[in-house]
Amino acid sequence: MRIDPCRTFISAMVVLFCLSFGLPRIAHAQTPTQKLSVHWEELTASDFREGVRRSQGVCLLPFGIIEKHGPHLPLGTDLLDVRYAALHAAEQEYAPVFPEYYFGQIAEAKHEPGTMSYSRGLQLALLQETTDEMARNGCKKVLIVNGHGGNNSLLPYFAQTQLDKPHDYVVYVFNELEAPEKGGPPRKTSMDMHAGEVETSNMMVSRPDLVHLDRANSESGADQARQKIPENIYTGIWWYTRFPFHYSGDGSPANKELGEYQMKWWVDSIAKAIKDVKGDDVSPKLQKEFYEKSTHPLDTQP
Ligand SMILES: [Zn+2]
Repeated sequence: MRIDPCRTFISAMVVLFCLSFGLPRIAHAQTPTQKLSVHWEELTASDFREGVRRSQGVCLLPFGIIEKHGPHLPLGTDLLDVRYAALHAAEQEYAPVFPEYYFGQIAEAKHEPGTMSYSRGLQLALLQETTDEMARNGCKKVLIVNGHGGNNSLLPYFAQTQLDKPHDYVVYVFNELEAPEKGGPPRKTSMDMHAGEVETSNMMVSRPDLVHLDRANSESGADQARQKIPENIYTGIWWYTRFPFHYSGDGSPANKELGEYQMKWWVDSIAKAIKDVKGDDVSPKLQKEFYEKSTHPLDTQP
């Protein structure tokens, strides 16, 4: 076969042209290394799909509240702090973070200005529909990160009652709000349950512009100790009997060093929780088995 140098040259040029310009490009929104926002609301629809894939179906629901925080901190303290911690944790260990959520249990502060207290039924219904919707969008592991002490009973109850009927996702609750005292900067106060030294210090990290330290002593956060029944008997009014101004402790000795220690502990702990939840293949599997068995309990036991 005779080789025509002219034709060979033209063919070579066509190949080169195709290689450099003409080949159809592979259509993709993200490469695996491309940085994705951790904010659910900042992602495009296709980036959201990539985010859920990258987080192995783990999505965060940071849970705040809107309530008085002593005389010196903003109403949104718990919301601002939990979002600060959750967003930084998700940067470390990727997971999409649901937008602002603050529809929790705060009936005990209804006598204070600015408190948003939703009814018991709505709290549970809204939370269920929120996690259902998250799961419908691929978040098969919903990690609720609690930022508010008043939710301490609500959230385990919500998680426990996921067993009442089948769901194709698992609810996890991370409910630690404070680093162990040992090892951190020394604290000046011993009574510190709400808007005191620790929370005020945290706020100095997340939103220092919203801390009015000069007002921290304008109300008393002392324990009024007015309830005269033993501690092992629970009442809903217990908090008001002890802290009628919705302030427990003293925010004035707060400092940035303590805030940085606390916040770093919180961020690292949440990041570890995200990792642990990603690695948990037991809960989804056994939850499914449980739902199946619960439809015919008489056949399942020996
Ligand atoms: Zn708080």
